[in-house]
Amino acid sequence: MLDVAIIGGGPAALSAAIYCGRAGLKTEVFEKNSFGGELSRISNISNYPGFTGRGSTLAQHFRKQAEEAGVKISYGECQEITPPVYDEKHSSAQLASLDSTFTIQIDGEPVSARTVLIATGSQPRSLGFEITPPVSYCALCDSDFARDKHVAVIGGANSAVQEALYLAPIVKDLDLITHSTLKADQVLRSKLSNHPNITVRENIEPVRELLDQYDYVFVFIGSHPATSFLRSLDPSICDQKGYLLTGEQARPLDPNRNKSFVFRISFEDYNPTPHATSLPGLFAAGDVRAGCPKQVVCAAGDGAAAAIEIIHLLQN
Ligand SMILES: Cc1cc2nc3c(=O)[nH]c(=O)nc-3n(C[C@H](O)[C@H](O)[C@H](O)COP(=O)(O)OP(=O)(O)OC[C@H]3O[C@@H](n4cnc5c(N)ncnc54)[C@H](O)[C@@H]3O)c2cc1C
Repeated sequence: MLDVAIIGGGPAALSAAIYCGRAGLKTEVFEKNSFGGELSRISNISNYPGFTGRGSTLAQHFRKQAEEAGVKISYGECQEITPPVYDEKHSSAQLASLDSTFTIQIDGEPVSARTVLIATGSQPRSLGFEITPPVSYCALCDSDFARDKHVAVIGGANSAVQEALYLAPIVKDLDLITHSTLKADQVLRSKLSNHPNITVRENIEPVRELLDQYDYVFVFIGSHPATSFLRSLDPSICDQKGYLLTGEQARPLDPNRNKSFVFRISFEDYNPTPHATSLPGLFAAGDVRAGCPKQVVCAAGDGAAAAIEIIHLLQN
């Protein structure tokens, strides 16, 4: 039986793995595609202190360190997680000593673990069609490529406006294009007028012919957290968009919702730590966790913080 099963193989997962391994916990990482996650696809990483260059190189360092810490690294897709069944009321302090474990399905095979860390990331929603100019889904990462250029930012919610405000001092001019009206908060919208090089174009469909007129296109039309494999759990574990809620954001679960899961721990007895979900023993870190800034350094820090909580839970 594992002490910790880590689902995903990106910066959050591998960083957590290093901590868990060094703490002597029996830890295994399960990654369905390529180790490094989004990091391995970044050609020239920005904003990571102490490292510049290919993301895949940094990802290899993460993986090597995790393996050196004694962590088993495996390929495999997590398809489902079944939480422990508690027969009587337990306080959260007793959880670590319980024999009950999580059962996770990896490529159809069951794996038992005392705790599980979900670090499966999220994918930005794409435009869905090809265009001539370069397309980016990360202003922080790619703003340098758009310096002094004629730029389009697609989207009308907070993230699009935030990123447009970030890009405005860098680019020559910027059209903020949304197919409806701007949905961003008033506070953010009011800041747009501080930047004379931003033009808001509402109720415009961002079609190929239009976008081909720009030098660089940034797309912020939402993202999908990779949490569909948690569908058998109570949906209250995630927010409306599917991001995992942890710490103070975590909500009580419905004890009657799933027959295989008898949740007898009263929520009042359970104070989830910042990376713990509503389900005791289940943690989340990185882009998949609601509120985690989508940057490599944040995901790695989030993984480390989650691991420290897991270590405390299992060792105390
Ligand atoms: C185009 C682009 C450029 C970026 N550039 C930068 C940059 O320059 N600097 C920066 O700081 N940030 C950048 N980012 C953001 C950064 O990549 C992410 O914030 C970071 O990788 C998140 O790490 P994570 O570990 O939370 O998730 P991810 O990196 O997304 O890793 C999650 C992993 O989980 C795996 N997984 C998903 N579901 C399952 C499952 N069911 N079973 C097993 N495995 C699963 C996935 O295959 C993936 O490998 C960029 C993002 C994009 C999209």
